[in-house]
Amino acid sequence: MIKGNIAVQTENIFPIIKKFLYSDHEIFLRELVSNAVDATTKLRVLANRGEVKGEIGDTTIEVILDAENKQLIIRDRGIGMTEEEVHQYLNQIAFSSAAEFLERFQDSAIIGHFGLGFYSAFMVADKVEVHTQSWKEGAEAVVWTCEGNPEFTLEKREKAHRGTDIILHINEENKDFLERTRVATLLDKYCRFLPIPIQFGTRTEYLETAEGEEEKSVEIPNIINETHPLWKKTPSELSDEDYRAFYRTMYPMGAEPMFWIHLNIDFPFNLTGVLFFPRLGNSMEVTRNKIHLYSNQVYVTDDVRDIVPEWLLLLHGVIDSPDIPLNVSRSYLQSDSNVKKISEYITRKVADKLHELFQNDRPAFEQKWRDLGVFVKYGMISDTKFQERAKGYVLLENTAGEFFTLEEYKEKIKVSQTDKHNKVVAIYTSDIQGHDAIIKGANNRGYDVLKMEAVLDNHWMQHMEYHGGDMLFVRVDSDTLDNLVQKDEKRTSILSEGEETTLKGLFENLLKGEVGARVTLSPLSPDEPPVQITRPEFMRRMKEMQSLQGMGMGDFPDSFNAVVNTNHPLFAGKLLKLEAEPERETLGQYLVDLALLQQGMLRGEALTRFVQSTIGKL
Ligand code: ADP
Repeated sequence: MIKGNIAVQTENIFPIIKKFLYSDHEIFLRELVSNAVDATTKLRVLANRGEVKGEIGDTTIEVILDAENKQLIIRDRGIGMTEEEVHQYLNQIAFSSAAEFLERFQDSAIIGHFGLGFYSAFMVADKVEVHTQSWKEGAEAVVWTCEGNPEFTLEKREKAHRGTDIILHINEENKDFLERTRVATLLDKYCRFLPIPIQFGTRTEYLETAEGEEEKSVEIPNIINETHPLWKKTPSELSDEDYRAFYRTMYPMGAEPMFWIHLNIDFPFNLTGVLFFPRLGNSMEVTRNKIHLYSNQVYVTDDVRDIVPEWLLLLHGVIDSPDIPLNVSRSYLQSDSNVKKISEYITRKVADKLHELFQNDRPAFEQKWRDLGVFVKYGMISDTKFQERAKGYVLLENTAGEFFTLEEYKEKIKVSQTDKHNKVVAIYTSDIQGHDAIIKGANNRGYDVLKMEAVLDNHWMQHMEYHGGDMLFVRVDSDTLDNLVQKDEKRTSILSEGEETTLKGLFENLLKGEVGARVTLSPLSPDEPPVQITRPEFMRRMKEMQSLQGMGMGDFPDSFNAVVNTNHPLFAGKLLKLEAEPERETLGQYLVDLALLQQGMLRGEALTRFVQSTIGKL
């Protein structure tokens, strides 16, 4: 038996390994199983070249749990190592790369903590044994043992099969890795799509039996992985149902995806994967962390923030690329040229797919719009390149449920909704129910009203006004109907100056308790309401932005206009004819209440008083 010291010149890294990544101790299993996969793949390559004598036999990798003896064993029938190779690979290369890894990445966030390698075993084990038998003819099997310090032993010992057994003596703090379900969960997370079959125990399979016959069952190896995952297959071999089935296995709780893109590129970088468009509805939150990053079928992480553009994180699925550097700090990733190209490639593919859908089947595209809209709009706001592409197919939906592209919509409304500055004014509502009366009024004017009820719509409209050309957006209640689309019409009031002063005084008095109210008199068309509440677009948007960003509401006070239509027949014909001040006030109050009511602003005591006094009049 040989005793020796591993790489004496470096400091003792074992205590550091033990403490390293406390929450991520579990990655040891991925590292060790990946090594087993590599060793097996190498053997298969050698066998294909005819370099291995005889049959290579079953190369299934086994993960064996022996809780009683506190052991977890990873067994492969791969190339194994000769004594010399153990020295070279475990004592020297693996050790110094682990040391280097720790030195560089102890404190930094790197993707999936990939690459600590073999020595990650010491995160969970006090003692590690490696029993290995090389494929090479005449090589003698050896056992390498290390007890979590720089000393190791190496001795010759017969071994039944070619390949390597890694025996982990799991320590007390990590005894959860001796639980079957814990190990099964980890295998499912990290090893589910590895290219070599991996067995974890056995499972019972019930055989088909004829009626009346006794139930029969057999124990069969429990293979935990899918060696040819969907994304590695050729799209032409796959049916829609294959994609849907894959989606269901990945996200059993999710609704069916709308569609998907299969990524497959070799140059200038290698990337495969499938991205699914989930049904988003109006939400942007529930779907995060649903893109899984793999490197040659080895799971790395579900946090792909620095690789995939923010807005594409709404997608689900898998990307697999050996060209994404995993051993760099996260902040470095964004500047990596491959990562940049990958991110651009994905964006382009997504834009292409949307364009294709729009062109090939517009009705289906429209039908999906409610789930797609958030996504496309988010993309347009965050990515100028995508915005250019999406401008042609982003859809606007009006209150009648009709869909238009930007160009189509401009064409539709330009005759009646172009203002005096030659801007096309799109009128929208963020609350169809709440704005019902105002929308009807606008429609009667020949105006079209858009539905903008999604969380992101405000942002998107603002963005389009700045970057999208010559369209303006105003909410249907932002001004009176006469002024929603500002024209150069002159209207005159039928009231005298004295009468106007009286009206103004009356309403200012009635509204003095309302915070942020401003009374304005306006000579509107007689068909506009006598009093209406408008919320100027700019102020309202500022306030909404503020609350969206969670800032204090203090800075932007609630503000609205109470617009008194001096040309409404009720004033000249009735209110101003009333002699007694209290009677005028009663009528005025009634008009104010109706206006507030219509905007959903009559609440609490004021509403109770209104209801009671109305009943009193009946
Ligand atoms: P990496 O896998 O990144 O090279 P590791 O520290 O995990 O680094 O392993 C170091 C080396 O030890 C491997 O490159 C390989 O040569 C050898 N090795 C590790 N595990 C096995 C195994 N199960 N069978 C054969 N060789 C192995």
